[in-house]
Amino acid sequence: MGDTQTQTYQRREIPRDQHNVSRSVISEPAKKVLSRLNNAGYEAYLVGGGVRDILLGGKPKDFDIATSATPEEVHGLFRNSRLIGRRFRIVHVLFGREVIEVTTFRGNAADAEDEDEQDDDRRTSEHGLLLRDNVYGSMEEDALRRDFTVNALYYCIRDFTVVDFANGMEDLNKRQMRLIGDPETRYREDPVRMLRAVRFAAKLGFDIEANTKAPIRTLAPLLTHIPPARLFEEVLKLFSAGYGEATYDLLREYNLLAPLFPETVAAIDAGESDELIRRALQNTDRRIAIGKSVTPYFLFAAMLWPALQADWRKRQDNGEPVQPALHQAIGKVIGQQIQATSIPKRFSGPMKEIWELQMRLPRRQGKRSFVTLSHPRFRAAYDFLLVREEAGEIEPGLGQWWTEFQEADEKGQEKMLSQLGASGPKKRRRKKPANKA
Ligand code: ATP
Ligand code: MG
Repeated sequence: MGDTQTQTYQRREIPRDQHNVSRSVISEPAKKVLSRLNNAGYEAYLVGGGVRDILLGGKPKDFDIATSATPEEVHGLFRNSRLIGRRFRIVHVLFGREVIEVTTFRGNAADAEDEDEQDDDRRTSEHGLLLRDNVYGSMEEDALRRDFTVNALYYCIRDFTVVDFANGMEDLNKRQMRLIGDPETRYREDPVRMLRAVRFAAKLGFDIEANTKAPIRTLAPLLTHIPPARLFEEVLKLFSAGYGEATYDLLREYNLLAPLFPETVAAIDAGESDELIRRALQNTDRRIAIGKSVTPYFLFAAMLWPALQADWRKRQDNGEPVQPALHQAIGKVIGQQIQATSIPKRFSGPMKEIWELQMRLPRRQGKRSFVTLSHPRFRAAYDFLLVREEAGEIEPGLGQWWTEFQEADEKGQEKMLSQLGASGPKKRRRKKPANKA
């Protein structure tokens, strides 16, 4: 196997006057957990994204703590805590809505030599995938098994120092994502690290360091070995951090979109437009910037749209009527997608409804508009329609009509409907392909 420790790393301590971590941006609950662990005689540090984001002047979304205490010892110190996980237990300490994740220092299971070396229970699979990650270790080992150097910085609230084992401060200043150890080995151990490289690069505006970048395009297909449920979670993280469009571009550039959305990439490569995806992500990014939420089903409805369009059109070209063709296409696209990323039922249902409503939105005569308007998924479908218009996929006008219809009073709505009647219903036609008789 590759030599993971070709680079030598040295522990460095950066004293309080040489960094800008201020205690005031650390949440009270995180501080409470750190000091109670310290007072009980354990080592405890803030680590990971929390330290990284503070050093960059941002506000962390959550706080992770690494400690020398075992999970049971942590649990014993906090009544408001829960032990999570079977193989490697971590502790969640709960303070209202805030969850502080406390992890015991871990070693690198792939390097560990212990009694069951001969067992079938190998530590890495034939692809180098890390199968077990459940060995306690020293603080230094804990640092070196982390993914990126900038994610391996520790902050001590006792003496206010930042502890750096892997030159993370240097990379932070250079604004680059660099894997700890040999990149190919680290990606093989856990291919999700490729997605994390891209996610952090987009979010932080960092470059991916040359050696960290080099193997990604080749190793990207390893992501197909990752359980669909984990990839679903990663997709949500990729597209709901507020940098969705930048992330999308990087995923495309590094061949990472195909393992996540194989049918979408196939459709785009065959000439389908991805303009709707871009517009949807721009939209999503704007929403997040103003503190609004995004729903996974809207995101997936957009990400799979090119695949749906391609399949739907193919069916119609083969003579299937438009409506049944859509239903068949929806079933097919979802069936294929869940082999890559799962889509929990609570999201796939609404996603289908968004798609189906796209066919109902143009049909507004009589009572139809009111039925459509009262559909629980109307709002999401209407938003989706606006994105399709922005993407130039349909003639402008329909979105505006629905905007006005929602705002109009009863009389106004009746007037709008009667005007529709006057101009007569437009019959939907789909273009026949040129090469067909
Ligand atoms: P954010 O929470 O902002 O997405 P983060 O860096 O805190 O970013 P988490 O997923 O919360 O990311 O993980 C916490 C820390 O655990 C990381 O900073 C990293 O040190 C370590 N870590 C997480 N996932 C991996 C992984 N796949 N391989 C190695 N280390 C990891
Ligand atoms: Mg985190």
